[in-house]
Amino acid sequence: MFVPPPLKLTNKCERCGLLYPKKEAKCSHCSDLSDQEVIYLKHKFAKEQQGNANLGKLLLFIASIIALVMMTLIY
Ligand SMILES: [Zn+2]
Repeated sequence: MFVPPPLKLTNKCERCGLLYPKKEAKCSHCSDLSDQEVIYLKHKFAKEQQGNANLGKLLLFIASIIALVMMTLIY
């Protein structure tokens, strides 16, 4: 059974957009960063998200290649 992550235990930081534990008074990601560094962090995070999406597409591509090869072997 699928168990959703404990979203209620995390806060989304309005400054950097990352999640941090609610028990912490301020965001552990950006509380000691300057505004410039926060912008950099956000940029880097967005890039990583993009990278994950690309990896997903690559895995899908590989899966379809495997499916194609298997079909070729069957017929
Ligand atoms: Zn933050």
